[in-house]
Amino acid sequence: MLPSLLLFILGLSFGSFFNVLILRYSPDGKLFRFKNLNGRSHCPKCLHELSAGELIPVLSFLFLRGKCSHCGQKISWFYPFTEIVTAILFAGVPLFLNAFYGVSGIVFWGFAMPLWYYALVVSWLMIALTFLVIALIDFRYYVVPDELNIVLIVFGVIVSLLLFFHGNGILPFRTSFLENYMMVFSPTQNVLVNHFIGAFAGGIFFELLVLISRGKGIGFGDVKLAFASGIALGWPDIGLAIFLSFVLGGLFGSILLLVQRKGMKDKIPYAPFFVIGVLATALFGNALIYGYFKMFGM
Ligand SMILES: [Zn+2]
Repeated sequence: MLPSLLLFILGLSFGSFFNVLILRYSPDGKLFRFKNLNGRSHCPKCLHELSAGELIPVLSFLFLRGKCSHCGQKISWFYPFTEIVTAILFAGVPLFLNAFYGVSGIVFWGFAMPLWYYALVVSWLMIALTFLVIALIDFRYYVVPDELNIVLIVFGVIVSLLLFFHGNGILPFRTSFLENYMMVFSPTQNVLVNHFIGAFAGGIFFELLVLISRGKGIGFGDVKLAFASGIALGWPDIGLAIFLSFVLGGLFGSILLLVQRKGMKDKIPYAPFFVIGVLATALFGNALIYGYFKMFGM
């Protein structure tokens, strides 16, 4: 319990950092710029500089009742949301992976596992955090910065290599979140090949959509995101994530059209749906495919 609590608190402060990163980002500039990250935060309306007490994640928002202490300007729910979700990922990703790979929690926290396992957990956590920031930035600015795709690719390659060299040290068929169904959808069990296929399958699929739709709705940004995510997730996981994102995005778009909150020509950011698809694949991928086959009596 204690390590998870400490990770949760660490996650809250990383969430605050992500808020600064996202708020000070401008779509035509670089994401990681020292100038952007330097300097105190202030109220966007009255420019009141936030004191140390006003910078505590989530708690400050609650104590200030979501308003600036100076001018009463409402503070967006975006900030505590980012902090809480980041904290849940910090505490939850290691717990989830321990359960998924069949590693006992006590063994894990006793630092009794070989070093590669900690590297694997940290790399997956970095991938999860990158997906979160991608979803939030796309939600806010309708763009996915290249820097985040590069982070996905770097940690995707690290995860692939760690699983390739050490995958035998974990439960069988746990190199894909679809577990044994990987064998149904992929010609090979080789992790490196599957992550390579994932990248190109994702990239080529979206490139075709761009060509078919002539860049309307789907842009080259989605091609880059699908390619980078394919390296991180591998095949067939990336395929299920894309499929689920289309189902979710389609449902959401139809609901918005029905209640007439958006017209046919309004932009809807794609990455948030994609990231939810990725999350669903990691958490329920195996169960979803099992349920699907069972429905057809297979
Ligand atoms: Zn203010």
